[in-house]
Amino acid sequence: MTVPTVQLNDGNTIPQLGFGVFLVEPVEAERIVSEALETGYRHIDTAAIYRNEEGVGRAIAASGIPRDELFVTTKLYNSDQGTQSAYDAMQLSLEKLGLERVNLYLIHWPSPAQDRYVESWRALEQLRKRGQTVSIGVSNFMVPHLERLLAETDTVPAVNQIELHPYHQQPEVTAFGAEHGIATEAWGPLGQGKYPLLELPEITAIADAHGKSAAQVVLRWHLQQGHIVFPKSNRRERMVENFDLFDFELSADEQASITAMERAGRVGGDPFEVK
Ligand code: NAD
Repeated sequence: MTVPTVQLNDGNTIPQLGFGVFLVEPVEAERIVSEALETGYRHIDTAAIYRNEEGVGRAIAASGIPRDELFVTTKLYNSDQGTQSAYDAMQLSLEKLGLERVNLYLIHWPSPAQDRYVESWRALEQLRKRGQTVSIGVSNFMVPHLERLLAETDTVPAVNQIELHPYHQQPEVTAFGAEHGIATEAWGPLGQGKYPLLELPEITAIADAHGKSAAQVVLRWHLQQGHIVFPKSNRRERMVENFDLFDFELSADEQASITAMERAGRVGGDPFEVK
């Protein structure tokens, strides 16, 4: 089974489906990521603040999978924003991951109260030139933050990783991304289990019609919207389920009925407020 890729604005590609490791305990990370790699995932989304980069790195090393078949993302945390601090944070992440370079390095949050995201972005531009990351992007950036990067720096982010699920689709920032060639990565694609998305009749009816699970329907909706997704699960059977998305397709009406569920229902932090 081949996962489709999304073309990025810098000429690189990213597997559209990956595996996220937010809230994966450091002691469990090696086992869980090893299981994900055995399942077939080749794109792993971690972050310095998840404290599990070492486990991710050990799983990658133990897998024997050639490095060029893997896509690894990590993120610069808010407290490391700046120039030298970003260089140091990147170096530390690479050491923990046991890698010479990541495929994608993201500014985790704009943290507007610090007002250092433009400076940090210039540091990421340098990190890419040095070869420590192949692509650079941002996370949790809203339109004003993106507008500032576009006005004040030379590089358009390859991706913007934002909270995105049927109750919170962020139409304004995804439209801005589409207009400027910034790919959208959807974090919390299943709503982080914080509302009963997988029990809603609009979703379960579609799942029954296709003989698939509610989670598979929601993830399939994301793929057909063009989002890049990396659902997280500690359980192997759910890893398998979340990877099994390519033998069915939602109709235009089914797709539209899920899109119509939008209600500005954020479940995570507010990007304008997170420090
Ligand atoms: P998610 O929407 O992927 O939900 C994960 C939860 O859904 C799991 O803990 C599990 O309880 C449940 N689940 C998973 N598969 C299921 C299935 N098949 N059936 C039923 N329940 C299932 O939320 P997430 O992990 O927060 O988001 C995915 C990834 O996005 C993260 O692991 C992380 O890599 C990234 N992320 C990034 C940010 C950011 O600020 N950039 C924030 C949060 C998450």
